[in-house]
Amino acid sequence: MPETPQEVLQMIRDENIQIIDLKFIDMPGIWQHCSFYYDQIDESSFVDGVPFDGSSIRGWKAINESDMCMVPDPKTAWIEPFYEEKTLSMVCSIKEPRTGEWYSRDPRSIAAKAIEYLNSTGIGDTAFFGPEAEFFLFNDVRFDQTENKGFYYVDSIEGRWNSGREEAGGNLGYKPRYKEGYFPVAPTDTLQDIRTEMLLTMAKCGVPIEKHHHEVATGGQNELGIRFATLVESADYLMTYKYVIKNVAKKYGLSATFMPKPLFNDNGSGMHTHQSIWKDGQPLFWGEGNYANLSQMALHYIGGLLKHAPALLALTNPSINSYKRLVPGFEAPVNLAYSQGNRSASIRIPLSGPNPKAKRLEFRCPDATCNPYIAFAAMLCAGLDGIKNQIDPGSPLDVDIYDLSPEELSKIPSTPGSLEDALEHLQNDHAFLTDTGVFTEDFIENWISYKLDNEINPMRLRPHPYEFSLYYDV
Ligand code: GLU
Ligand code: MG
Ligand code: MG
Repeated sequence: MPETPQEVLQMIRDENIQIIDLKFIDMPGIWQHCSFYYDQIDESSFVDGVPFDGSSIRGWKAINESDMCMVPDPKTAWIEPFYEEKTLSMVCSIKEPRTGEWYSRDPRSIAAKAIEYLNSTGIGDTAFFGPEAEFFLFNDVRFDQTENKGFYYVDSIEGRWNSGREEAGGNLGYKPRYKEGYFPVAPTDTLQDIRTEMLLTMAKCGVPIEKHHHEVATGGQNELGIRFATLVESADYLMTYKYVIKNVAKKYGLSATFMPKPLFNDNGSGMHTHQSIWKDGQPLFWGEGNYANLSQMALHYIGGLLKHAPALLALTNPSINSYKRLVPGFEAPVNLAYSQGNRSASIRIPLSGPNPKAKRLEFRCPDATCNPYIAFAAMLCAGLDGIKNQIDPGSPLDVDIYDLSPEELSKIPSTPGSLEDALEHLQNDHAFLTDTGVFTEDFIENWISYKLDNEINPMRLRPHPYEFSLYYDV
């Protein structure tokens, strides 16, 4: 893989590449792209960027100030696996052409600023992130996008309906029952070859791959394992991960969804995020002999994550559907607490043996509807706030929560109940993001109003299918 602009330009010549596809990340976290004839890219493109009109990009600029520049990162260059013509792909950050500054609403630039901020605190110089994004593959999805309707259904691979009813008819032999997808061999698992193709395709795009398997839910829930990496790199990998999964699924006539809770009454899809901070090549979260061998610094980082979690979730779990996953009984976190083993706790400390370098924590709340650059940067800010202010995370939650009395249970704070709730917390608690210089006040305001105007309010206007079941006969 190339490292420098010169190496990319050499690769373009060596491989006789005609088309260069530049991709960048919009605010909700979807890649947008534009393709250029190879002679349009030269050394200056890697500094000043390539101009484009940013006015139609969701959540960005007004039409009267729409000129922007995409600046490709040479380290993200790979050959596109899904196009006929040999095409070089690169991921870009966004610059303001007038000032030459990185654009304050560009997620990738925000992520880079988070690392600058980490360095400026003197606490560490590297933050590692390892996301585990789960997803479903479905045969057939229909939703009506017209203004007056809103009905949809999902027909899962294993032949069950979104309502949770068994499909009438059909051969249900070998089909995993609810929550029994983890992880019998074929013929129960029908997705081995697809996942293998996904994993190997990612490797060709430079993603360090580890494994793949079926997940717990019935109906084609899967997870592919990729190696942890530094903050921006890891977010870049996650974008490639989702892109490859969606495109390989399409090739097989399926579609992949990362929405957190597509099926009622079965496990949802999370994006547990492993994280740790390092300095001068040394891990900082290891503290031999302490609880779970965690350093005091790691405990403070946990304290910061837990304290700011209600606000943080507006960025790490930013969809209405996110909060249908964060309920008891499906391995998703509901308690704002930490624990070595308890999967209902928001932070789990994985067993990592005696190797200090493997010591990390797993924040289990996020899901893959987040924008990974924004989510990782925000989690780092929350953790660093905990370290700077020595926030005590309290005692670990190692008891089985089912053994607790309602009174004991009520003392444990829980995750917000809805996106609206999380956004309200973000409105009232975002100094930990903006005081760092990583996020601007404008970014937070824009995020909240974007979510209200484009998601919460439109949803409020539409009758939900389940309302018919509740109220039709009244
Ligand atoms: N699917 C579960 C979740 O929503 C996680 C299952 C697992 O631990 O891998 O978080
Ligand atoms: Mg999993
Ligand atoms: Mg996990």
